Amino acid sequence: MANILVVDDEYGVREGCRRVLALEGHSVQAAESAEPALSFLEQQRGEVDLVLLDVKMPGMSGLDMLNAIQQLDADVVTVMVTGYATLETAIEATKRGAYDFLPKPFTPDELLGKVAKALERRALLREARQLREEREHRLLEIATEKSRLRTIINCMADGVLVTNREGEIVLYNPAALNVLDADASSCLGRPARDCIRNEDLLDLIDAALAQSEPSYHMVGQEITIGQGPPRVLMANVAPVRDDPGQLLGAVVVLRDISRLKELERAKSQFVRMVSHELRAPLGAIHGYLDLVLSSSLASEHTNEAAMLSRARDRAEALLSLVDDLLNLSALEAGAVARHLEPLALGTLVEECWELLRIKAEERKVTMTQCVEPNLPAVIADREEMLRVLTNVLSNAIKYNRYGGAITVSLRREGPYVRLEVADTGIGIPKAAQEHLFDEFYRVKSRETREITGTGLGLSIVKRTVEAYGGRVEVVSEPGVGSTFSVIIPAQQ
Ligand code: ADP
Repeated sequence: MANILVVDDEYGVREGCRRVLALEGHSVQAAESAEPALSFLEQQRGEVDLVLLDVKMPGMSGLDMLNAIQQLDADVVTVMVTGYATLETAIEATKRGAYDFLPKPFTPDELLGKVAKALERRALLREARQLREEREHRLLEIATEKSRLRTIINCMADGVLVTNREGEIVLYNPAALNVLDADASSCLGRPARDCIRNEDLLDLIDAALAQSEPSYHMVGQEITIGQGPPRVLMANVAPVRDDPGQLLGAVVVLRDISRLKELERAKSQFVRMVSHELRAPLGAIHGYLDLVLSSSLASEHTNEAAMLSRARDRAEALLSLVDDLLNLSALEAGAVARHLEPLALGTLVEECWELLRIKAEERKVTMTQCVEPNLPAVIADREEMLRVLTNVLSNAIKYNRYGGAITVSLRREGPYVRLEVADTGIGIPKAAQEHLFDEFYRVKSRETREITGTGLGLSIVKRTVEAYGGRVEVVSEPGVGSTFSVIIPAQQ
């Protein structure tokens, strides 16, 4: 059903049209001249679908009305009704926006045929307008969203940099330029290599762009930048992929962590200083207690002897804590003076076991070693390697069951030597395994309650091994045992 306006000065035509169209279910208004017709259209702006318009009327003609109608509603469809259709009027009317002609006199069917066609046109116009409006709306939304995102990225304190697949910079924010000391005018669209001077960061971007598997995630790395007082940045780089996993580029987020690093350094220095100051008096106390206990007093089973022996054990535990702290802070500060030499790990394990023999015998723990023939040496500092082995082996004794066994195996693995220390001990719950190498982390359970330790040993092991380009691994099952692996580059 449509809203139709019939404008004709002939009563018969008006009435005839109204009746025929009303029978079809349309809502029909009639006007005898331009004036009431235009004011009706103005009132109903946008609601009238079709105007049947007489060309010749007293006052304003149908032709002259066309402009006014177009101005009131550009989507209304007009069909000219005329008794004197000439080519000129047809051209003129079409120019002014009329859609069709209906020559007088006409039959009801002719009228209905023209009206149906005109209404189809009206429906198309409406649809086109709707699509246009939707598109404009969407474009506006996109533009707003884009500018909002741009503002957010620009206001971020962290630097953001995005490259395309070819490694050309396609987006950056002022913070990124600031931390990288790059020039805003020459960055956009240029290869990252031309704008960024830091090789580590460029390598990270290349690595992200070279990743083929879609499962690859963000890589974080500290990078040092700038001349003068260097700044330390945490650079997180990740590949950007679209939904099917196609590589689009890489996104870099840069955070200036110089202040944090400075704080960390100060903390490390403080720990080092305190540990250092504690070590000498503690060593003296431990030494004196040892001396007193080894004298005649110790052989008597007195209360004093028991107390002194306990005091010595506590002093020993404190000494090992202080030693761990010293080692750790030296590693953190990068202040380790390394004397590198080729080392046969098998011999080192034997040596280390000699030092731990008394502890192992107390707990009736035995060790077997299995070294692959022609195992290459590793190039490392002897003291550091002994510390690594001592930590792992003494854990394998401490956390073993009474009468348990340790198997040490050494074999080549590609360009590495793999050392595995397997025990038959209490094992480590799954949830704890990822924290084992954190500083001060100790598993708290009924089995570990009586075992003393600082929670620093494994973090020292990890840091030391990583300093040589190696890595550590652990596999463990509670109640069955654990296997700690140290993987270190072999001598080439
Ligand atoms: P700690 O001085 O406590 O031994 P570590 O850093 O050497 O410190 O070890 C951290 C924790 O890891 C230990 O407290 C212990 O709970 C667990 N752990 C280490 N080695 C073993 C092992 N071989 N078997 C079971 N648990 C272990």
